[in-house]
Parts: sequence; structure tokens; C-alpha cells
Amino acid sequence: MSDANAERRFQGVGVSPGIARGTIFVHRPDDEEPPVRRLVATEVPGEIARFETALIQTRHQILEMQQRIAESIGAKDAGIFDAHLLVVEDRTLIDEVIRVLQREKLNVEHVFQEVSGRYAKTLAAIDDPYLRERAVDIHDVARRVIHNLLGKEGCALNSIQTPHLLVAHNLTPSDTAQLNRSLVLAFATDVGSKTSHTAIMARSLNIPAIVGLHDASDQLATGDHALLDGYNGLLIINPSDQTLWEYGELEVKKTEVEQRLTRLRDTESTTLDGRHVVLSANIELPEDVEQVKECGAEGVGLYRTEFFYLSKAELPDEQMQTEAYRKVAEALTPQPVIIRTLDLGGDKFMSALNLPEELNPFLGWRAIRFCLARTDIFKIQLRAILRASAVGNVKMMYPMISGIDELRKANAILEECRAELRAESVPFDENMEVGAMIEVPSAAIAADLLAKEVKFFSIGTNDLIQYSIAVDRLNEHIAHLYEPTHPSIVRLLKMTIDAAHANGLWAGVCGEMASDIALTPLLLGLGVDELSAGAALVPRVKRAVQALDFSACQRLVEDIRHLDSASAILEKCEAVARSHYGELF
Ligand code: PEP
Ligand code: MG
Repeated sequence: MSDANAERRFQGVGVSPGIARGTIFVHRPDDEEPPVRRLVATEVPGEIARFETALIQTRHQILEMQQRIAESIGAKDAGIFDAHLLVVEDRTLIDEVIRVLQREKLNVEHVFQEVSGRYAKTLAAIDDPYLRERAVDIHDVARRVIHNLLGKEGCALNSIQTPHLLVAHNLTPSDTAQLNRSLVLAFATDVGSKTSHTAIMARSLNIPAIVGLHDASDQLATGDHALLDGYNGLLIINPSDQTLWEYGELEVKKTEVEQRLTRLRDTESTTLDGRHVVLSANIELPEDVEQVKECGAEGVGLYRTEFFYLSKAELPDEQMQTEAYRKVAEALTPQPVIIRTLDLGGDKFMSALNLPEELNPFLGWRAIRFCLARTDIFKIQLRAILRASAVGNVKMMYPMISGIDELRKANAILEECRAELRAESVPFDENMEVGAMIEVPSAAIAADLLAKEVKFFSIGTNDLIQYSIAVDRLNEHIAHLYEPTHPSIVRLLKMTIDAAHANGLWAGVCGEMASDIALTPLLLGLGVDELSAGAALVPRVKRAVQALDFSACQRLVEDIRHLDSASAILEKCEAVARSHYGELF
């Protein structure tokens, strides 16, 4: 066997379970040739309009960059962008692209790549340093324009038409939202973490995935044959016969466990001593509703509506949203569907909104903060959610509430929408329950105050942990500090749940902690009323609940009260979990 065919292993972090084998496709957004597509004559005006929009968007980005550089380094250095602006305004180049597009009837990314490439080559060949510099500017700007064109269409990632393992330096949540589930067998990225939305999306799409592979994407090539182990975070290139045999065995075992879990579908998530915990599923897209029914969840505990926006080039209108929410509500009625209002920002961006770049996006213009500033967008969603409430058991909650003022403002806008719908005689559920996500430490600490103005709490531990311990949930370098069993997190959970109960509310957990079966005894012991996990993980959580004694969970919480470290608390939790359902580990 030559070296090139030897087995090579890359270790990362498994974020979505499963094993996949196949050919690798390495996604390198900057070097990919834009795909070529023939247009029918009627598509030409639309294609030209798309080109014009991309030029405007690019111009906007250059101006923003120029301003940032001018503020941070100085106006002199920002001058380089004047040349970039000249490129997006260059009539000769733009007119030539339009002429070629009309003549050859090919998609604009391809035409622009060809024309700008020729143009840059001609300038580079002229013996004049100024014009040679312009050639470099054209390359830079062309890349940006094409990126904007592709970003809107998302076609670069979808250009490969055969089943493959996708490898990339990074995938954004909107990239992930656009993946073709039938062609992407698994994916692996150099960066990322377990609670990034890309990882969450992989779990809900049931795509095995690994993140944190450092520089693997540079070392791998499209066409390599590989096996991806999402349980253990391993990417194995050219797996040997021995490795394939071992994985064959592992798959058989995993399939047996999965089959046993499938039989739990119609059973209750009730502990041995009779405490029922509502077990719901998290979803990202309307079509995920099928999985909710199959996994045996009691409805949807978190519908992350922003993914519907991320999968679109334009903002979805009221009708489109109403239909999407109705589809889920109708399919599950009488079971509840908790629709979370738009949580854009952080790591979720929509190119159509052209939001300014921020230094600290997770601490910035995100979620309810964005919605309260853009009430035009917010109201469309609130009206759609209310309209969907007429046909099912719909509840609604706001993300990222940090204090009572935000909650009151959001509720006031909701009230406006209710009044409008009443005036238009559009039906909706007047008693739709409204809750708050508790995911900002200030909200957990003041949960008793918030409890007066909502009907339930759903604890978003993914953010609650990142904000409480000040550990970026996406940053693999500090992932070891991201500890769900940190004593402070346990205290915040307890404060929130106790405040809910003292005020007659129920409290659930919809962050990834809810699907970690090592932590089920802890959450039950703290008194949660609901757990909401990715659909694929619901059966495991159900099995865990059924194998536990609520009284033993309460004893566990007593036992850990005086422990001072995350690892000591985790050890106790794991001991209880393993002694009750060791086969799941
Ligand atoms: C959370 O923060 O725990 C949560 C459920 O919301 P998201 O992961 O979408 O931020
Ligand atoms: Mg959150």
C-alpha cells in the first residue's frame, strides 16, 4: 500500500451522532468557480436586476469597511477603498457584463467572473504600475460581488450533485440551513463548537457532524475517500479494512440501541415513581414536524423561526410565515408548538438584511433587541404567529429577554397586533400563552419579576452558559470553560425554576443541556416541568426519564449543593445516570 493510500485520522469534536462513509467534497468558497447555468430569455431581466443588487450591496460593504478602517487606522489607509469603489461603478465593466449576459444567456456569476477576469488580465499586462494595481482591485471586488451573488442564492455549496461528506473551514447556520439533506451525508469543519447553531442544525437534520478539526480542510482534497464518526469526532481518510470492520460492528450495536429506543415512541416520559416531565422537540424548519411525530415528543418546545428566514433570499412575508407556522401547528394539534420569535444576530445572519458587522455580535443587536428596533419586521411575524394560533395549540416566546422593559415593550407590540387582527376580523387564539426565554443571567436573577408578566419560562442554557461564564459558545479554544454543571449555572437554573413555581408558572429547558442524558437527573431534581431536545435525541431522553426515580434526582440536587466545581457536580450526575441507563453511554 503506498503512503497516499494509508489511513489518516483527524480528531475533532463530535457534535452530531452517526457514521457516514463516502467521498469528500472540500468547500473553499473563495476559490470555487461559480457554477454555470443557462438562462431562458425571460430570466435575463431578473438576472440583470440581481447583478445590480449585488453591486449596490458590494458598494455598501466597501463604504462600511472604508469607514471602519478610517476610524481605526486613519483616513489615509482607507483611501485604498476608493479604488474598489471605482470598480463597482465602472460603466465599461458593468455594460460589458450586461451585454455578454444578454448575448450568451448565462447566469451572472459566471459572466461576471469571465468578464472581470479578462478585464483584469488586460490591465495587468499594460506597462503602467497604476493600471496593474487596478487589476488587483478588480480581483478583490469581483470576489466580493460573486460572493454576494452566491450568498443570496447559496448555490456554491449545493453545486455538487452526488452524495458526499462535506468538509469546510467553517459553515454558517445559513449555509447549513441550505444543505441538501439527501446529498450531504455528513460534514466536518475546522472551527465550531457543540452549541453553535451549525451544530444544532446538524443534529436536527440528522446529519453526522464534527467540528474543531483545526486545519483539516487545508490538508484534505475533494475526492478523498473517508469515514466520518460523529460519535467520537473522528474523520478517517482511506479507512483500512480493519477500521471498516470495527465500524461495521459499532453500527450494528448502535442500530440495536436505536431500535429499542424507537419502541418507546408511544410511551410516557414519566419517572419510575410517577413524576411526568413533558418531553418536547426542538425544530428549525416546518418540515421537521414529521420527525417530531416519529420521535415520540409531546409537541414542539422550541421552534427556531429564524431558520425559515435564513433559508430565504428575501424576508418572508406575513402569508408565507402564517402558512409555515400553521403547517406545524396543524400537524401537531392538540399538542403544543412553542414558536420562538425571531432570533437573528449572534451567529445567525441574513444577507437580505445587510446588518452592520459588530465586534461582539452575541452581545449586540440580536434577537428581541433587533425586533424591538425593527418593529416593521417584528409585527409581520407576530401577526403570522397569532393567525396560526387559530388552527392549533400555539404558544409563543421571546428570545434574549434581559429585563422587564423589553418584555413589556414586546408585549405592547403584540397587543397592537392583536388589536389590528380583531379590527380586521382575522381569527386568532385570544388566550395564546406567551413566555420568555431565560438565557441572559440578568433575566435568571430577576426571574421573579419577569414571572409576573408571562405564562411560562423556557431556559436557553446555550446562551445562559455563554453569558454567565463569559465563554463564547462558538470558540473552540475556550470550549473547556463551557461547563453546564458550573455551580453558578446550577444556581441560576434553580433560581429560575423556583421563581416560576412560586408564581404558578411552569419552567422548561430548551437548550442543549436538555438533551444531555448525563444531566437529566440534575434537571429533574431541580424540578423542571419540561425538557425540549432535538428530535433525534428525544428517545434517549425519554428512556433516561423512565429509568430514573424523581426522589433520587432530588437527593442528587441535595448532594451537590455544597460542591464547588463543575467537574465534581458532573461526576455525581454521571454516576446517577450511568447507574440507571448505562447502556445509553
Ligand atoms: C439557547 O440559547 O439555549 C437556545 C435554546 O437558543 P439558541 O440555541 O437558538 O440560541
Ligand atoms: Mg439562545
